[in-house]
This record gives sequence, C-alpha cells and structure tokens, in this order.
Amino acid sequence: MFSFKLLAKDKPRHLLGIGEIVDIFEVVKRGIDLFDCVLPTRLARTGRLFSKKAERFRIHIRNEQYTNDPRPIENECECYTCRNFSRAYLRHLLMAKKLLAIQLASIHNLYFLESLMRRIRTAIKEKGLAELKKEWFSTT
Ligand SMILES: [Zn+2]
Repeated sequence: MFSFKLLAKDKPRHLLGIGEIVDIFEVVKRGIDLFDCVLPTRLARTGRLFSKKAERFRIHIRNEQYTNDPRPIENECECYTCRNFSRAYLRHLLMAKKLLAIQLASIHNLYFLESLMRRIRTAIKEKGLAELKKEWFSTT
C-alpha cells in the first residue's frame, strides 16, 4: 500500500492527502506522524461537517432536518463554531450562500481533526490506538 518501511524511523513522517477518519487511524498505526489534506475545508465548503456519531463521521448541514435544529454541530465539541452557533443557523448561512458559513464550518472541521489527533496521541501513550479506534468505530 505505502512505502512506510523506506522512511527513516527517527524522523517525523508526513503524508499528504489523508483526511478521512478511517485513513488517519490506519496510517497512524503504520507510523505516520503528520498529515496535510484539503478534505476538512473541502467538506466545509459543501456543508459537510465532521461528527463522531454520524455515518462516515459527517453530517450534511444542507439537509432539511437541520432547518430548526438548535443544537451545535457536536455537543461535546469546544470549537468556536459549536460554542456559538446552532445547526439551524449554519444551515441558514450556507443556504443563503454566505461566506461565513464556510468559515464557521471550516473552523469546526479543522478543530475536529485536531482534537482527534490529540486523542490519538494520548491513546498511544495510554490505552492504545486499537482501543481508541474500537471506541470511534463502535459509535457509527
Ligand atoms: Zn465544533
């Protein structure tokens, strides 16, 4: 799949184009330390927001079911967007084609991945990556 074995073990390993949750778990397991991907902002531009409890770890805020939804994207998320805005307001901004919608969605998606990586680093030190992966994939 990848040429990980050819990379130096005593230097940080960077991989481009990895942004899906399932891929992140897989490449971390193989020793990758850093990622760089357009996915979080690309998804944000189309109203797709990362959510731990949703199918494929994302909700589509354009869906009508969010029209009057007063909840944040994720109750547990501490990002600026989730602390200050509802799903309904984000949907309204996106449907009205306001640039702010994309900015707020990007803030959430980037925070979500940063938070996941924080949890992964902690898991590697403590209970283990496999246990964290099991926790994440048992809720979808
Ligand atoms: Zn958030």
